[in-house]
Amino acid sequence: MKNSSVHSILEILSTKGHEQYGTEAVSQLEHALQCATLAKTSNATPELITASLLHDFGHLVHNLGEDAAERGIDDRHEYRALNYLKTIFSDAVTEPIRMHVNAKRYLCAANKDYWDSLSPASKTSLELQGGIFTEAEATEFINQPYAEDAVKLRMWDDLAKVKNLKTPGLEYFVPVIKKLIINS
Ligand code: FE
Repeated sequence: MKNSSVHSILEILSTKGHEQYGTEAVSQLEHALQCATLAKTSNATPELITASLLHDFGHLVHNLGEDAAERGIDDRHEYRALNYLKTIFSDAVTEPIRMHVNAKRYLCAANKDYWDSLSPASKTSLELQGGIFTEAEATEFINQPYAEDAVKLRMWDDLAKVKNLKTPGLEYFVPVIKKLIINS
Protein backbone atom coordinates (compact mmCIF):
# COMPACT_ATOMS: atom_id res chain seq x y z
CA MET A 1 0.00 0.00 0.00
CA LYS A 2 2.82 2.40 0.95
CA ASN A 3 4.52 1.22 -2.20
CA SER A 4 1.53 2.33 -4.24
CA SER A 5 1.54 5.71 -2.44
CA VAL A 6 5.10 6.20 -3.64
CA HIS A 7 3.98 5.23 -7.14
CA SER A 8 1.22 7.84 -7.10
CA ILE A 9 3.66 10.51 -5.90
CA LEU A 10 6.04 9.65 -8.73
CA GLU A 11 3.15 9.54 -11.19
CA ILE A 12 2.07 13.06 -10.17
CA LEU A 13 5.68 14.29 -10.39
CA SER A 14 6.16 12.84 -13.86
CA THR A 15 2.82 14.14 -15.22
CA LYS A 16 1.89 17.39 -13.42
CA GLY A 17 5.61 18.01 -12.94
CA HIS A 18 5.87 19.24 -16.51
CA GLU A 19 4.14 22.44 -15.44
CA GLN A 20 6.45 25.44 -15.24
CA TYR A 21 7.97 26.20 -11.82
CA GLY A 22 6.27 29.58 -11.42
CA THR A 23 8.21 32.13 -13.46
CA GLU A 24 11.49 30.17 -13.22
CA ALA A 25 13.18 28.74 -16.34
CA VAL A 26 12.53 25.09 -15.41
CA SER A 27 9.56 22.76 -14.96
CA GLN A 28 8.57 21.44 -11.53
CA LEU A 29 10.03 18.06 -12.45
CA GLU A 30 13.33 19.52 -13.68
CA HIS A 31 13.50 21.59 -10.48
CA ALA A 32 12.90 18.51 -8.30
CA LEU A 33 15.48 16.45 -10.21
CA GLN A 34 18.10 19.22 -10.12
CA CYS A 35 17.55 19.67 -6.39
CA ALA A 36 17.84 15.92 -5.68
CA THR A 37 20.93 15.67 -7.90
CA LEU A 38 22.62 18.51 -6.00
CA ALA A 39 21.82 16.68 -2.74
CA LYS A 40 23.25 13.47 -4.14
CA THR A 41 26.48 15.04 -5.41
CA SER A 42 26.89 16.68 -1.99
CA ASN A 43 26.76 13.20 -0.44
CA ALA A 44 23.53 13.91 1.42
CA THR A 45 21.72 11.08 3.20
CA PRO A 46 19.06 9.16 1.25
CA GLU A 47 16.47 10.90 3.47
CA LEU A 48 17.71 14.35 2.47
CA ILE A 49 17.97 13.36 -1.21
CA THR A 50 14.33 12.24 -1.03
CA ALA A 51 13.30 15.43 0.78
CA SER A 52 15.06 17.42 -1.96
CA LEU A 53 13.18 15.54 -4.67
CA LEU A 54 9.80 15.98 -2.97
CA HIS A 55 10.21 19.39 -1.29
CA ASP A 56 7.83 21.18 -3.66
CA PHE A 57 5.41 18.29 -4.07
CA GLY A 58 2.81 20.47 -2.33
CA HIS A 59 2.88 22.82 -5.36
CA LEU A 60 1.50 19.97 -7.48
CA VAL A 61 -1.46 19.10 -5.29
CA HIS A 62 -3.43 22.34 -5.31
CA ASN A 63 -5.40 24.21 -7.94
CA LEU A 64 -4.25 27.73 -7.11
CA GLY A 65 -2.25 27.87 -10.33
CA GLU A 66 1.48 28.06 -10.86
CA ASP A 67 1.47 31.86 -10.62
CA ALA A 68 -0.15 32.05 -7.16
CA ALA A 69 2.72 34.11 -5.71
CA GLU A 70 2.52 36.70 -8.48
CA ARG A 71 -1.17 37.04 -7.67
CA GLY A 72 -0.30 37.68 -4.03
CA ILE A 73 -1.25 34.23 -2.73
CA ASP A 74 1.03 32.13 -0.53
CA ASP A 75 0.12 28.56 -1.52
CA ARG A 76 1.66 27.24 1.72
CA HIS A 77 3.03 24.38 -0.38
CA GLU A 78 5.43 23.19 2.33
CA TYR A 79 2.41 22.01 4.35
CA ARG A 80 0.00 20.83 1.66
CA ALA A 81 1.29 17.31 1.16
CA LEU A 82 2.87 16.96 4.58
CA ASN A 83 0.29 14.79 6.33
CA TYR A 84 0.28 12.44 3.37
CA LEU A 85 4.08 12.28 3.20
CA LYS A 86 4.21 11.63 6.96
CA THR A 87 2.28 8.38 6.45
CA ILE A 88 5.06 7.19 4.14
CA PHE A 89 8.33 8.71 5.40
CA SER A 90 10.13 9.50 8.67
CA ASP A 91 10.79 12.97 10.09
CA ALA A 92 14.24 12.96 8.46
CA VAL A 93 12.41 13.29 5.13
CA THR A 94 9.36 15.34 6.08
CA GLU A 95 10.86 17.87 8.51
CA PRO A 96 13.29 19.45 6.02
CA ILE A 97 10.34 19.70 3.60
CA ARG A 98 8.17 21.36 6.23
CA MET A 99 10.96 23.83 7.08
CA HIS A 100 12.35 24.64 3.63
CA VAL A 101 10.38 27.89 3.30
CA ASN A 102 11.30 29.08 6.77
CA ALA A 103 14.91 28.16 5.94
CA LYS A 104 14.83 30.93 3.32
CA ARG A 105 13.55 33.38 5.96
CA TYR A 106 16.39 32.15 8.22
CA LEU A 107 19.12 32.44 5.57
CA CYS A 108 18.08 36.02 4.77
CA ALA A 109 18.54 36.88 8.45
CA ALA A 110 21.82 34.96 8.86
CA ASN A 111 23.56 36.05 5.67
CA LYS A 112 23.13 39.52 4.23
CA ASP A 113 24.27 38.41 0.74
CA TYR A 114 21.72 35.64 0.58
CA TRP A 115 18.74 37.89 -0.15
CA ASP A 116 20.62 39.45 -3.11
CA SER A 117 21.18 35.98 -4.55
CA LEU A 118 17.48 35.09 -4.63
CA SER A 119 15.58 35.02 -7.92
CA PRO A 120 12.91 37.73 -8.39
CA ALA A 121 10.15 35.10 -7.92
CA SER A 122 11.73 33.92 -4.69
CA LYS A 123 11.94 37.49 -3.38
CA THR A 124 8.24 37.99 -4.15
CA SER A 125 7.22 34.79 -2.38
CA LEU A 126 9.47 35.62 0.62
CA GLU A 127 7.27 38.59 1.46
CA LEU A 128 4.11 36.48 1.21
CA GLN A 129 5.73 33.83 3.39
CA GLY A 130 6.30 36.28 6.24
CA GLY A 131 9.55 38.01 5.23
CA ILE A 132 13.01 37.86 6.80
CA PHE A 133 13.20 36.34 10.30
CA THR A 134 14.12 38.56 13.24
CA GLU A 135 17.26 37.52 15.11
CA ALA A 136 15.15 35.80 17.78
CA GLU A 137 13.09 33.93 15.17
CA ALA A 138 16.28 32.88 13.37
CA THR A 139 17.77 31.46 16.58
CA GLU A 140 14.58 29.61 17.40
CA PHE A 141 14.44 28.20 13.87
CA ILE A 142 18.00 26.87 13.68
CA ASN A 143 17.71 25.14 17.06
CA GLN A 144 14.96 22.81 15.83
CA PRO A 145 15.77 19.23 14.84
CA TYR A 146 16.51 18.91 11.10
CA ALA A 147 16.86 22.70 10.68
CA GLU A 148 20.41 22.29 9.32
CA ASP A 149 19.08 19.81 6.76
CA ALA A 150 16.33 22.26 5.80
CA VAL A 151 18.98 24.96 5.23
CA LYS A 152 21.02 22.63 2.99
CA LEU A 153 17.88 21.71 1.07
CA ARG A 154 17.08 25.40 0.68
CA MET A 155 20.47 26.18 -0.83
CA TRP A 156 20.11 23.35 -3.38
CA ASP A 157 16.53 24.52 -4.00
CA ASP A 158 17.80 27.99 -4.92
CA LEU A 159 20.38 26.55 -7.34
CA ALA A 160 18.01 24.04 -8.96
CA LYS A 161 16.66 26.44 -11.57
CA VAL A 162 19.09 25.97 -14.47
CA LYS A 163 17.52 25.84 -17.90
CA ASN A 164 18.17 22.63 -19.90
CA LEU A 165 20.52 21.09 -17.31
CA LYS A 166 20.96 17.33 -17.77
CA THR A 167 20.23 15.25 -14.64
CA PRO A 168 19.40 11.63 -13.92
CA GLY A 169 15.69 10.90 -14.49
CA LEU A 170 13.08 10.13 -11.86
CA GLU A 171 13.70 6.39 -12.20
CA TYR A 172 17.22 6.91 -10.85
CA PHE A 173 15.80 8.04 -7.49
CA VAL A 174 13.09 5.37 -7.16
CA PRO A 175 15.27 2.80 -5.31
CA VAL A 176 16.54 5.53 -2.96
CA ILE A 177 12.97 6.53 -2.09
CA LYS A 178 11.59 3.01 -1.77
CA LYS A 179 14.13 2.04 0.87
CA LEU A 180 12.82 4.81 3.11
CA ILE A 181 9.16 3.78 3.26
CA ILE A 182 8.25 3.32 6.93
CA ASN A 183 6.39 0.25 8.26
CA SER A 184 6.07 -1.24 4.80
FE1 FE B 1 11.69 24.59 -4.66
